[in-house]
Amino acid sequence: MSETIHHRICPLCEACCGLELKVNEGKIVSIRGHEADVFSAGYICPKGVALKDLHEDPDRLRTPLIKRDGEFVEATWDEAFAEIERRLPPVMAAHGRDAVAMSLGNPAAHKIGLLMYGPKLMKALGTRSIFSASTLDQMPKHLSSGLVFGHMFSIPIPDIVRTDYLLMLGANPMASNGSLWTVPDFRGKAKALRARGGKFVVVDPRRTETAALADEHHFIRPGADVFLLLGMVHTLFDENLVRLGRVAPHVDGVDAVQSAVQPFAPEKVADRCGIPAADIRRLARELAAAPRAAVYGRIGTCTQEYGTLVSWLVDVLNTLTGHLDEPGGAMFAKAAAFAANTAGTPGSGRGVITGRHKSRVSGAPEVFGELPMTCMAEEMETSGPGQIRALITIGSNPVLSSPNGLRLAAALDKLDFMISMDIYVNETSRHADVILPAPSALEDSHYDVAFPQLSWRNHARYSAAVFDLPQGQLPEWATLLKLTAIVQGGGAKADPAQLDAEQFGREATKLFADKAAAVIEATAHLKGPSRLLDMALRNGPYGDGFGATPDGLNLAKVQAAPGGIDLGELTPRVPEMLRTPSGKIELAPPSLLADLQRPAQDLARQTPSMVIIGRREVRSNNSWMHNLPLLAKGPERCTALVHPEDAQRLGLADGTMARISSRAGSIEARVQLSGDMMPGVVSLPHGWGHNLAGTRLSLAAKRPGANLNDLLDENWRDPLSGNAVLSGIEVELAVA
Ligand code: SF4
Repeated sequence: MSETIHHRICPLCEACCGLELKVNEGKIVSIRGHEADVFSAGYICPKGVALKDLHEDPDRLRTPLIKRDGEFVEATWDEAFAEIERRLPPVMAAHGRDAVAMSLGNPAAHKIGLLMYGPKLMKALGTRSIFSASTLDQMPKHLSSGLVFGHMFSIPIPDIVRTDYLLMLGANPMASNGSLWTVPDFRGKAKALRARGGKFVVVDPRRTETAALADEHHFIRPGADVFLLLGMVHTLFDENLVRLGRVAPHVDGVDAVQSAVQPFAPEKVADRCGIPAADIRRLARELAAAPRAAVYGRIGTCTQEYGTLVSWLVDVLNTLTGHLDEPGGAMFAKAAAFAANTAGTPGSGRGVITGRHKSRVSGAPEVFGELPMTCMAEEMETSGPGQIRALITIGSNPVLSSPNGLRLAAALDKLDFMISMDIYVNETSRHADVILPAPSALEDSHYDVAFPQLSWRNHARYSAAVFDLPQGQLPEWATLLKLTAIVQGGGAKADPAQLDAEQFGREATKLFADKAAAVIEATAHLKGPSRLLDMALRNGPYGDGFGATPDGLNLAKVQAAPGGIDLGELTPRVPEMLRTPSGKIELAPPSLLADLQRPAQDLARQTPSMVIIGRREVRSNNSWMHNLPLLAKGPERCTALVHPEDAQRLGLADGTMARISSRAGSIEARVQLSGDMMPGVVSLPHGWGHNLAGTRLSLAAKRPGANLNDLLDENWRDPLSGNAVLSGIEVELAVA
């Protein structure tokens, strides 16, 4: 067999780089960046190369597992579905729909089959018990964007290739290549910004790899970004710097914002955030004066008690300085398929309502149909109508990735039934009664559903499967349809292809009414996600309209372009992209203005002498990456970064073990001295702690690391979005 070359969008992080794989005799020979990729132009990070390790990992599951007498035994797919049919419907019948919960993890965002067919299973279940990783890292940005612009994915992103000034908070794209901002080769783009005379300012409690690249870095007290941003907004009004620019006729609520920020003059917030008032005023002036500028905040700004307020204030600053929706400013991508802000009536929509139901125990409001992940354990433990008694996880490992996962682990053991769709027996799926293995990403075709809505440049790229599915392995969309059929009473023997055709017919009829028959016929040669994708592309903003615009896109055209199709730079989209009921940019949502009372009361809070924050590293993203040899090798990564002054005060030496204790728990981690830390702040990366019994992550278990989440309080959340507070937790550090 000769060598073949394949192109695949990397599924391992939000940067979505185009990869080129060489394959010989069914084996991956090499993986490198695809030079001709229209979006990432050959960029790759070490994780992309490790896709080979993931594909070949002997620990990766290839056969369904059923737990019998406490032990997993291998089973056929038919046996696994029969077991599910035997055990899941009775839970629903006896205890109601809310008794079955679903938990979705990050990998679901990188698989079109999961994104398209997961919601179908959710709908069939009819449960309110929906949880996802979104409430551990990004719900605040979805919520603020939804309230202001009308949809959770209408998130403005920096137009980095044309900006003159970039202010970044709580983000480390040198390690991540963007999050809620798809920007492969961030380093190259940031360097180009500076080379053309632009200015790059980073605000972070750690002088991160990104901050090291910037013109200016400011330490900020963890969790205090809200005070900096309120001080900057105050300055804009105070110094008459507000200029809305072109979007002015489309903005509501400027006066309300002005009165709401009155208590937050820079001189009042400076101590609380740790940045001098003069610097706060200067940053506001620079932002207002820059011809093309953007503010961007990410994970550190979301995983804190004021996550939604901070996410909102980032866009208030972009709007008040005239940089929203302007080239070089904060702009909206225009995705070729699946974007809500290109569908329906341009310029207005239903907007966003939260709190249509609440969690039973804590009373946390639903947000976009989800309850906070940190409420899942108590919803399992607490009896009464709606108590969770069964769980379906999809690429989700909350025992490791959610605060106080050990409480959740104990709750999982008491469930009546649990199913995991996963590639590993990990800290969460070890509790399942049935594990349904996912195919390797390389055995699956792909088109990114979410990330083109957040991309630095518009594009359409499709990846064909590199390898055939192994004998008997179902694609994930078919697995989800089988589960859907079981839940709906159709039985374990239901044919997913037939169900798919029926569902497609219903969706086409809903979308196209009397033209549906033609759409059904035109796509009849396709099935599963490919058929939905073809319909979405053809009906999308660049589509061929099923013949109405012959030069437009369809799936065949995108498939025929291995490097993807470039759809151009970001272009102004206000007002057509708005989906608020008023048709305006709702700059002052009442719920956010009301929430300002919390920081107002918090202005005088004493800052603890030591707090902990997380961190992102190039060679790690999700917890399962610690089982890949290429990423696991090298120096120990789960270390506690401690400022030398703190270390000296506490008697800690580089390389020794420290005990880190909080109200919630205590862990031990190796100390790594770092002058890049803000004094009084210690940093430990997320996703570690692979020392729990019953997993099959043999490499990760050799160097398990400490779990930051064991220190975190699952009851501390941003009340608006339900996002867990992961940053700025008070801790004590001592010699272990
Ligand atoms: S930056 Fe992300 S998408 Fe790009 S190669 Fe690395 S892991 Fe893959």
